[in-house]
Amino acid sequence: MCAPSVIAAALAGMNRRDALHFAAGVVAGVACVSCSSGAARAASGDECHPPAPAAPKRSIAADTVLDLTHTLSPLFPIWPNNAPIKITNKSTFEKNGFYSNRWEIGEHHGTHLDAPAHCSASGATAEKVPAASLVAPAVVIDVRDRAKRDADAAVTADELLAWEKAHGRMPKGCTVVLNSGWDAKAGDANAFLGTDAGGALHFPGFSKAAAEFLLNERDVAGLLVDTLSIDTGAATDFPVHKLWLGAGKWCVECVANAGKLPPAGATVVVGAPKVEGASGGPTRVLGLW
Ligand SMILES: [Zn+2]
Repeated sequence: MCAPSVIAAALAGMNRRDALHFAAGVVAGVACVSCSSGAARAASGDECHPPAPAAPKRSIAADTVLDLTHTLSPLFPIWPNNAPIKITNKSTFEKNGFYSNRWEIGEHHGTHLDAPAHCSASGATAEKVPAASLVAPAVVIDVRDRAKRDADAAVTADELLAWEKAHGRMPKGCTVVLNSGWDAKAGDANAFLGTDAGGALHFPGFSKAAAEFLLNERDVAGLLVDTLSIDTGAATDFPVHKLWLGAGKWCVECVANAGKLPPAGATVVVGAPKVEGASGGPTRVLGLW
């Protein structure tokens, strides 16, 4: 417990601004002087240490709402050997007075969330991904020129630092968006997957070194990619998936229109599914600025 007398004693002698900052630190669980386990326990929260917010307080005003979501149909490109979405009509205006369908679908079809549980046995399933992390400033990394020449292009840590040189340090709780131009290929499954003569896949993603940099050196909520995977198509052992989701982070794959986002200054809203026990699921993603 944080004894009120401890806080009162600490506040004595501070000016009002310092006192407010100190009080905020206590609420965030980072400055409790009476508990030895403050920072560690703050992650899950208790009566003494409520969970820390996933992102700093911010206001959002938008003139533009950009849809970062592909329309999902049975023709949308999916991983090899998966069944496409099956949409079965269940009721019609003529017969029932209303319209509805039934879907049979894998969780990783179309523009979709990967919850930490997708690659981590102890990771959060989709319904447990913190809502506050799903509204995030967008850091957009443009690798379109490189991806035109090299389908295996992987975002490097140097490219992330080059973005910071132009736009400043990545905001806390941001989402880093891969803009490779790959969304333009979504109408052609072979082009989107980059399937070669031997059946291997080729499309851009993040390098493991870039993901390590974002995980260890910056405060990033999630990754967005306009390809089928946060790993490159050639990375068949999924090092970025294992690292990123294993660290409790989320990602969204197969986003559309990343090339229409400004490189900095937009906010992404990830309408992640809230299905019990889900490893992910089709997601509506919006960009606001
Ligand atoms: Zn996925």
